[in-house]
Amino acid sequence: MAADRRLLRLQEALRRCSAQPANRVVTMVARVTPAPGVGIRDLPALDPGAGIAGGTVLPTWIAGGALEIVTWNTGEASDLRRYGNRSHAEAQFYEFMRDRDFTSIEIEISHSPCTACADMLAGLLNSMKARAASVLRGPNRRVGKRILVGSATDTARPIPATLRWGTLFETPPQATTPQSLRQLQAAGWRMAAPRTAIPNDAGTPAITLL
Ligand SMILES: [Zn+2]
Repeated sequence: MAADRRLLRLQEALRRCSAQPANRVVTMVARVTPAPGVGIRDLPALDPGAGIAGGTVLPTWIAGGALEIVTWNTGEASDLRRYGNRSHAEAQFYEFMRDRDFTSIEIEISHSPCTACADMLAGLLNSMKARAASVLRGPNRRVGKRILVGSATDTARPIPATLRWGTLFETPPQATTPQSLRQLQAAGWRMAAPRTAIPNDAGTPAITLL
């Protein structure tokens, strides 16, 4: 199934990605800055027995240097009970990024994230924001017998984070929910999707129309 034609960055990344296995339902690309010294590499699949790679890292010189991480689902939807979301495209990406710092992140994915992946992506951004804030924590100072602990400043540069998808993921039991989208929004993700890919339910947060 081809990704929505409005997801131009995903279309372009998939064209450049020679390693994509056939018949992947969910595909995604994440562009993160800055680009650390990482060369082109394939990512192993997270779920045991997948028999295919989980994705590819494509360094690019766009925007002063960025990494594009292309991933896809490595299993079937029916694997959910056995492996959780470990076969999902977002999980392959998360495994690569979880310990890496970034200053901006932009994702285009064929389908909206399931509840488990939404949780994961919110956590990724929250933990990066926490690391960025702690770097800016002022030094401790000694005044007489007292030690004044440096306070965290709120001047940490915001981390631009956008998430665009083409189709609403509606497969139980982890279909995208308004609550999981609110969780993403609260973490700082700005979201965009076609009207048909946005839940109709009350409580859906503001999502830009693609
Ligand atoms: Zn998922």
